Amino acid sequence: MNKEYDPRMHSAEHILNQTMVRMFNKGRSFSAHIEKKKSKCDYHFERELTAAEQVEIESKVNQIINQNLAVTENFLPREEALKDFSLDKLPDQAGDNIRIIKIGDYDACPCIGKHVSSTKEIGGFRIISSNFENGVLRLRFKLND
Ligand SMILES: [Zn+2]
Repeated sequence: MNKEYDPRMHSAEHILNQTMVRMFNKGRSFSAHIEKKKSKCDYHFERELTAAEQVEIESKVNQIINQNLAVTENFLPREEALKDFSLDKLPDQAGDNIRIIKIGDYDACPCIGKHVSSTKEIGGFRIISSNFENGVLRLRFKLND
């Protein structure tokens, strides 16, 4: 992660990823483009989402945002972190003291990025499209201003 991410969008990405994990158990996004105006996340998947699933994802993410959960960081030695987390997406300079970002008790994920301090700051979350091709589900989303 070498560019400056928008903290609201990027925090929404954490919540979206955890929501996808809980609903489908296919892992977090393997690729993402996070920008202030709109973002996209790609997931390994085997089919299109149904309209009902898309609505469910959106409402779950908004539910977490509206709970105004605290976003906190703590640090774990790399060996400890490896027991609970994949560190594959961290850059090498993450070092031996791994930063874990928690969103209430909903999500925990190693990350070096910038986040909001509580979820309400994110505002409203909206999926603008989903499409499926070659084993990849792509979700595009926006935040309300
Ligand atoms: Zn992050």
